[in-house]
Amino acid sequence: MSKVLIIGAGGVGGVVTHKCAQLPEIFSEIVLASRTESKCKAIAEQVNRPIKTAQIDADNVPELVKLINAEKPSLVINVALPYQDLTIMDACLEAGVHYMDTANYEPLDTAKFEYKWQWAYHEKFEKAGLTALLGSGFDPGATNVFTAYLAKHYFDEIHELDIIDVNGGDHGYPFATNFNPEINIREVTAECRHWENGEFVTTPAMSKKAEFTCPEEVGTFNIYRMYHEELESLSKHYPTLKRAQFWMSFSDNYLNHLEVLGNVGMTGIEEVEYQGQKIVPIQFLAKLLPDPSSLGPRTKGRTCIGCVVRGVKGSKERIVYIYNICDHQACYQEVQSQAISYTTGVPAMIGAMNILNGNWVKPGVWNIEQFDPDPFMDAMNKYGLPWKVVELTDFNLDQ
Ligand code: NDP
Repeated sequence: MSKVLIIGAGGVGGVVTHKCAQLPEIFSEIVLASRTESKCKAIAEQVNRPIKTAQIDADNVPELVKLINAEKPSLVINVALPYQDLTIMDACLEAGVHYMDTANYEPLDTAKFEYKWQWAYHEKFEKAGLTALLGSGFDPGATNVFTAYLAKHYFDEIHELDIIDVNGGDHGYPFATNFNPEINIREVTAECRHWENGEFVTTPAMSKKAEFTCPEEVGTFNIYRMYHEELESLSKHYPTLKRAQFWMSFSDNYLNHLEVLGNVGMTGIEEVEYQGQKIVPIQFLAKLLPDPSSLGPRTKGRTCIGCVVRGVKGSKERIVYIYNICDHQACYQEVQSQAISYTTGVPAMIGAMNILNGNWVKPGVWNIEQFDPDPFMDAMNKYGLPWKVVELTDFNLDQ
């Protein structure tokens, strides 16, 4: 029986709140706090259990400490934005509670997708006897655990990893992002980095394309190689990896819009002055685009996210694919949200559960693959994200 404080009432915050509320035996009390309290209240109304709400500026450490001390949760689940990771970690240290998130810290002015700032907190959490779990969403999150699970049960040594994230859903808008537009566009427009022979190799954004056919008739999609933060932690924690790549599906329509927006400067993250006001173009664009949490009712189709791992078991080479397929409309029926927020929010709830039940309590700052994958994988099957493992005879995305 434990109390949690969830920070962030966006698409993901809504799903985490729903999923935690479904398990009163684990999450006995829930407080949902965010910058705009009315959004917390709207989520609380959807849930058939009393949820406490609060207004919080998560950039402000004293304010956070005050809220944590007043509510005394066992764990803070950070599903605000990556910009708030360090302030929330500072507040957790000061108030003496465990911490978890779903995305690495990002400085406001540069798109980095690096763990170094959060890894630097390791000793502080260790000394305080507190656990900080990083990246408990789907990617990062489930994809890291998938890799750890295959490495543990299917291989002696893993050599190649391809993480493939396909969203076969359609929301019917000409252009919208499935999660926070600012973070999404930063990710997609960033230079690509992939791990090869002991170092990261940089290539231009979206310069490598392949075709991937998903299982279970989800469809065939164009996927593009891009950088994703789990490559940094996985290549560190699995030094036998000779190559690790991340791929995401994008429609031609999405990429055309993005190209035009980029060409006219709307995806920039540097401030510009307009009529005496300082405006960050990408933040203004995010304001104009549909709110990702409003896409739920209109999104149809399925996601298919998984990992293909090549390695050796005994004297034999082996290729194994592990994946989850998730239906946008089924997610909406359950928690009033589309599958992108769902596939992030469910692993966040599972990560939280593993801290609260003691499975994953270990003082320090940890990426999710550093814990035993088995309880997480069991919970995925139980709480809405069932997965499958298939052995492949051949796999090649080079075209
Ligand atoms: P949204 O933009 O929908 O929601 C973010 C929420 O955080 C909003 O409610 C926002 O408040 C709140 N917030 C922002 N700044 C502050 C602040 N300073 N103080 C308090 N609250 C604040 O984003 P998503 O729900 O889509 O994403 C949430 C997180 O999940 C992000 O970090 C994202 O990167 C991550 N993510 C991870 C994935 C994974 O698989 N690992 C996949 C998808 C997302 P307001 O409503 O006032 O704007």
